[in-house]
Amino acid sequence: MATLPAAVLKDGREKSLLARHPWIYSGAIERAPDLPPGASVDVHAADGTWLARAAYSPASQIRARVWSFDPAEAIDADFFRRRVDAAVARRHAMFDAAHDAARIVHAESDGMPGVIADRYGDVVVVQLLSAGADAHRATIVDALSAATGASVIVERSDAEVRTLEGLEPVSGVIAGTLPARLAIREQGLVYRIDVLTGQKTGFYLDQRDNRRLVREHAAGRRVLNAFCYTGGFTLAALAGGAQSVLSIDSSAAALGLGRSSLAMNPAIAALPAQWKDADVFAELRALRNAGATFDLIVLDPPKFAPTAAHAQRAASAYKDINLLALKLLVPGGLLATFSCSGGISAEFFRKIVAGAAVDARTDATLVATLGASADHPLTLAFPEGEYLKGMLLRKAD
Ligand code: SAH
Repeated sequence: MATLPAAVLKDGREKSLLARHPWIYSGAIERAPDLPPGASVDVHAADGTWLARAAYSPASQIRARVWSFDPAEAIDADFFRRRVDAAVARRHAMFDAAHDAARIVHAESDGMPGVIADRYGDVVVVQLLSAGADAHRATIVDALSAATGASVIVERSDAEVRTLEGLEPVSGVIAGTLPARLAIREQGLVYRIDVLTGQKTGFYLDQRDNRRLVREHAAGRRVLNAFCYTGGFTLAALAGGAQSVLSIDSSAAALGLGRSSLAMNPAIAALPAQWKDADVFAELRALRNAGATFDLIVLDPPKFAPTAAHAQRAASAYKDINLLALKLLVPGGLLATFSCSGGISAEFFRKIVAGAAVDARTDATLVATLGASADHPLTLAFPEGEYLKGMLLRKAD
């Protein structure tokens, strides 16, 4: 194997790498040569011990991201082929007659920092979000194409985090032709998705298990789905026998897809579903002032705190909506509440909602602790991967 340029860490800064954490912050590096974005480097401890092989990112605070902890492993086309094949193979059980969509590569958790890939039937949507991922674009796309046999590959590298890596947003169809109307199957339900202009890569795949949970608890209930996006939880609740569902979002495009998704599911298409284009904060207040009540509420807001620096302001936003939701629930009603903020820990989120219950003059029991579904695995060495936290709560009688 050809020798790679070496980055040497400051004394004592090797600890996180020895614990297999894949990020090397700029402040941990004693010296590194001038390297182009995404170049492979060997990372050494101050005493010269080899630690890892990583992608260098000169513009980022996260100066390098580990590709491999194995000194014998070269970062070449075979490497990406092996990693992608393994990641895809781990998800085999998530595809069946009722499901044709799941995340197939989940970045650090699959040993590929900065690489996300979601499979929607015959379409794979890839996000290359780090300098290292960007530098190996063609190789990664080839590996995804070979591992899945998908006929269409779309890129959605337009997430905010790319700017932290000094990268421009990139999106568009890389291979094949996108069908004019794309739909997927989850839990036997058909959902329309827009992979080119939708949020994330088009669908919140991470909520699959939680949509099933809501479906299981929906029978006979009047449901409020706040921050509904394209109605993932809405269709799930209707399929579970909900009496009615009110879905609120501020994106007219998302609501439009939700409506047409519902129309594509004959068994539930005629059930009482109302879609409202509104600000959830204002609408929850308006519902409360009007004396409305619900038996089951889903609160799945966008990330109010992308990093810990936003945590305090985000906390008051989370408290506000959870307080209102708890007031809108009937005694014994259920609240499925989520935070996808990297800057808010599960423990802090629970404290915020506990505070909301106190202010709503009620109490709640934790029926279940929720997280992202199995296609978004969490590796113990990388706690930052735990971005989605949720709770299913039962309001006191
Ligand atoms: N639960 C959804 C995903 C929700 S993502 C699913 O399972 O698919 C968060 C949603 O909140 C986005 O659709 C976004 O348009 C919406 N949103 C963000 N801020 C909002 C606000 N203040 N009022 C209403 N909707 C908002």
